[in-house]
Amino acid sequence: MHLTMFSLSSMQSNNIQTQSSSSLLINHHHQHNGFHHLTHVSIRPSPRIHHRLLFSPRAQIVNLTTTSNNNYVSIPSLDDNLSKLHKSSRSSSLSNIEESTSSHPLSSSNKLKIAIIGFGNFGQFIAKAFIKQGHIVLAHSRTDYSLMAQSLNVNFFKDPNDICEQHPDIILLCTSINSLERVICSLPIQKLKRNTLFVDVLSVKEFPKNIFLQSLPQEFDILCTHPMFGPTSGKDNWKGLPFMFDKVRIGQKESRINRVNNFINIFEKEGCRMVEMSCCEHDKYAAGSQFITHTIGRLLQKLGPETTPINTKGYEKLLNLMENTTADSFDLYCGLFMYNNNSMEVLEKLDAALDSLKRELFGKVLEKLEKKVEKESRLALPTPLAKNIEKLQVERKEEALS
Ligand code: NAP
Repeated sequence: MHLTMFSLSSMQSNNIQTQSSSSLLINHHHQHNGFHHLTHVSIRPSPRIHHRLLFSPRAQIVNLTTTSNNNYVSIPSLDDNLSKLHKSSRSSSLSNIEESTSSHPLSSSNKLKIAIIGFGNFGQFIAKAFIKQGHIVLAHSRTDYSLMAQSLNVNFFKDPNDICEQHPDIILLCTSINSLERVICSLPIQKLKRNTLFVDVLSVKEFPKNIFLQSLPQEFDILCTHPMFGPTSGKDNWKGLPFMFDKVRIGQKESRINRVNNFINIFEKEGCRMVEMSCCEHDKYAAGSQFITHTIGRLLQKLGPETTPINTKGYEKLLNLMENTTADSFDLYCGLFMYNNNSMEVLEKLDAALDSLKRELFGKVLEKLEKKVEKESRLALPTPLAKNIEKLQVERKEEALS
């Protein structure tokens, strides 16, 4: 099987290829503007309809610098009751933030106190670099990772209240995409410093950006990031690996600007290729590169490929791709689909590309048969191929008649 069979018509090079996707050379950039995803979807009418369930964009007036191209906030049109409930409980607790935390100044040193929320596969992986660079790392997760945290020199807090009471400079969300909103809503953010910086590493970007803008008070800074690598591709070092970021909302005070830059510098120091772009751009690129890579990896897994004594280099790459992509959780893969508005289009194009390729192949065989081969020799063809050719002949006749 050759990789070009998966290529899409609108392929273009993009600059945030993941490790796996760049080795596959399956990258493209869609130019379509889309809508945002819903957080909870209990009924799924059809994939396309699901992807068109809208957040209505609405302008957010903030007295803060916004460096991305897009400073709109999206509000879900469904789940209103749930979000109202969250909002009412949040607004009463948020009114206490100013009094309870305004007395905590930002630290002036480069050393950051980073609280990782979601200490699973990726959270643990990224914590090691922070520790190595001398930052203080705290962690909280649904699962008790106390022992693992201890071995990494990370302070683990089972109770979210306790980690917030440590007044970290940064809250770093490393939870699965589909649990983000639930996790944010369960954090007692009124216990944090008033000007805490919220960062996420989710593999989709418009979705967390909108959740942050919706649920965090304006005093909190927001940085959306996507390290385009993980525990497998970045296990030796991060040199040359892309780190995407969007400074969605950063206060103008020098200390706040320094804090966000200090955080970003962690990745620069590790040798990452720094890519600043809007969350919206990211999602367009990532659907055409990362989502398709993961889809093909999972598709290959379904085919159950086996290693052979005559593996070509290309085939070895496919086996690697399958291993790398399926090492990530299915939650992650599902998140790439459900929470990136551009993914459905990519999936449809993939389907259409396979169909078109099949038609091309069968068409070629048919052409040859019609020109050179006697009618009887068709009988010598393997039955499935003969059947497909007959089918194609009928389709062509029907097309010619209509
Ligand atoms: P994941 O399956 O996407 O997420 C696992 C994390 O989510 C764990 O910390 C888990 O907590 C938490 N979680 C899942 N369901 C939860 C729920 N219902 N309530 C609370 N917490 C829940 O796998 P991952 O690889 O660790 O990825 C974490 C994040 O990093 C994702 O957003 C992903 O998109 C992003 N990312 C991953 C990679 C990568 O290569 N893996 C690269 C870049 C970015 P517990 O472990 O405590 O259950």
